[in-house]
Amino acid sequence: MAEKILLVEDEEKLARMVELELRYEGYEVEKAFDGRTGLERALSGEHDLILLDIMLPALSGMEVLRRLRRESQVPVIMLTARDTVVDKVSGLDSGADDYITKPFAIEELLARIRAALRKRPAAQEAPRLTCGPLVMDVERHEVTVKGTEVELTRREFDLLRCLLEHKEKVLTREALLDHVWGFDFAGETNAVDVYIRFLRSKIDEKFGVKIIHTVRGVGYVIREED
Ligand code: CA
Repeated sequence: MAEKILLVEDEEKLARMVELELRYEGYEVEKAFDGRTGLERALSGEHDLILLDIMLPALSGMEVLRRLRRESQVPVIMLTARDTVVDKVSGLDSGADDYITKPFAIEELLARIRAALRKRPAAQEAPRLTCGPLVMDVERHEVTVKGTEVELTRREFDLLRCLLEHKEKVLTREALLDHVWGFDFAGETNAVDVYIRFLRSKIDEKFGVKIIHTVRGVGYVIREED
């Protein structure tokens, strides 16, 4: 998906020119022509990067940046007509990622944009739990073995997740009941054995692997076959 840039710049001709260049490079562009609108749009969280002019009507670029930084770490590149040390220092203090002084070559702006986007913290990897050929994508609620999806009920998924979170550690039936069914479970502890059987039939037996192990007299453990 195209990265989305918010351009806050009151000089409409310049804004239009930059917008065209950015679109040509494949970015999505939204424009705001004053500081107040710019701040409001920047706070929407919809943008991957903000290009922020300093001299703006309604609210200065520095003020927009200061208020934005209370809530957001979105990369911000300041556009400034004044190449003074004072501006740069106060902008850095306010949390700008970079500066570019007007007039600028579009290639230089593009290079700074690419650099600022690269510096972003990588999107959080979806948590994955694995055991040999088995992979659980917790957020997507998906389990695969050797790349083939396994259909699990909610309870089977929760039980498998609990085993995976304690990989190579033996869990007693009671511990599994507490984790998966909750402390107030009033049924028989053999519920665990029943669900372990379901999991084995869907995973170990179906795929010819051995990862769900019984530790006699103690409980269960998930680990790669030895
Ligand atoms: Ca301006």
